[in-house]
Amino acid sequence: MVQEESAKPKNQARLVIRNIGLLLSGDLEQPILDADTVLAVDGKITAFGKEKDIDTEKATAVVDAKGTTLAPGLIDSHVHPVAGDWTPRQNQLGWIDSYMHGGVTTMISAGEVHTPGRPKDVVGLKAMAIFAQRAFTAFRPGGVRIHAGAPVLEHGMVEEDFKDLATAGVTMLGEVGLGSVKDGATAHQMVAWARKYGIQSTIHTGGPSIPGSSLIDKDVVLAADADVIGHINGGHTALPDNQIQTLCEKSPRALEIVHNGNERAGLLTLRTAAELKQLQRVILGTDSPAGSGVQPLGIVRLIALLSSLGNVPAQVAICFATGNTAKVRNLSCGLIASGRDATFVLMDKAQHTAGRTLLKSIEAGDLPGIGMVIIDGVVSAQRSRNTPPATQVPEVVKA
Ligand SMILES: [Zn+2]
Repeated sequence: MVQEESAKPKNQARLVIRNIGLLLSGDLEQPILDADTVLAVDGKITAFGKEKDIDTEKATAVVDAKGTTLAPGLIDSHVHPVAGDWTPRQNQLGWIDSYMHGGVTTMISAGEVHTPGRPKDVVGLKAMAIFAQRAFTAFRPGGVRIHAGAPVLEHGMVEEDFKDLATAGVTMLGEVGLGSVKDGATAHQMVAWARKYGIQSTIHTGGPSIPGSSLIDKDVVLAADADVIGHINGGHTALPDNQIQTLCEKSPRALEIVHNGNERAGLLTLRTAAELKQLQRVILGTDSPAGSGVQPLGIVRLIALLSSLGNVPAQVAICFATGNTAKVRNLSCGLIASGRDATFVLMDKAQHTAGRTLLKSIEAGDLPGIGMVIIDGVVSAQRSRNTPPATQVPEVVKA
């Protein structure tokens, strides 16, 4: 009797989201699921399907989706955080919380390069990366999970440095090319060392972003062979079309399209990936904060741009910012599947859009209205303060 009691899990947080009008999986293989209910226990998805088939008893929290659309929370694959919820780049506070109101629940740092006085010596850059990894693991503005601690490559780094970084918990490099290493041979060597110790890499692609940054062309990108071809559409200055097409064809790596890049080059990348039948390589980021500022709606704007002008169904474009990125980056969020993070964005068509449904409105180039954001099973925001107002919003009926 006593044993039985202690074996029972105590105080489980059981979140039920019911009355979902459309469930988007984030998975390109099957972007739309035939389901109206999701059950999450202690922040992880445990079941989804038709309400009658799901054990909704003993819920500690219930959300009535009111027929709106549920998708995995959006992932921004390319941000440049510095410390806390402050960016010195445009001297703004609260930018991460604002992005959460744009549906972003997970961010990936491409380097904390805007840090005033950023150290460029090897000991200093390692210390800064470890600090950022620790600080952003512990501090989550609006609940957003920020994967940070992304050192940029500087000359003088040796294999042991990558081993040290990995041992200390660093899991990725900042954009190759933003530090002093800008040649293909050195980048290739360091990216290979990083990969050997389980550290993922990304590379700046295109012309210089700001004074002090520099050109990285297709030859350097191909030689470096980083895991992610960072802002393949430039940040903002793009490579010539034939170089972008060559990168899509010759490299097997992820194709990252960013908001703060060249839109035409982004559409070319999308078209080329579609022709190659490799849409699973397309992932999205904002590349912000940057010279172009802070864009709380950057990811939904990119989804609407690629869907409306790139002729991909809205549910597919949403996969670019969810399941695709999760798979490329080995994240536990981004897909509606058992065991995945209970991290969601609930959307509806914006008020007075010409689109008949949420998906049609995105395909017509309009932004979705966000009605609720849930991170790790907890409601982070209700009606978004930043998107156009959603026609219908979900309601917390038990909390
Ligand atoms: Zn860049």
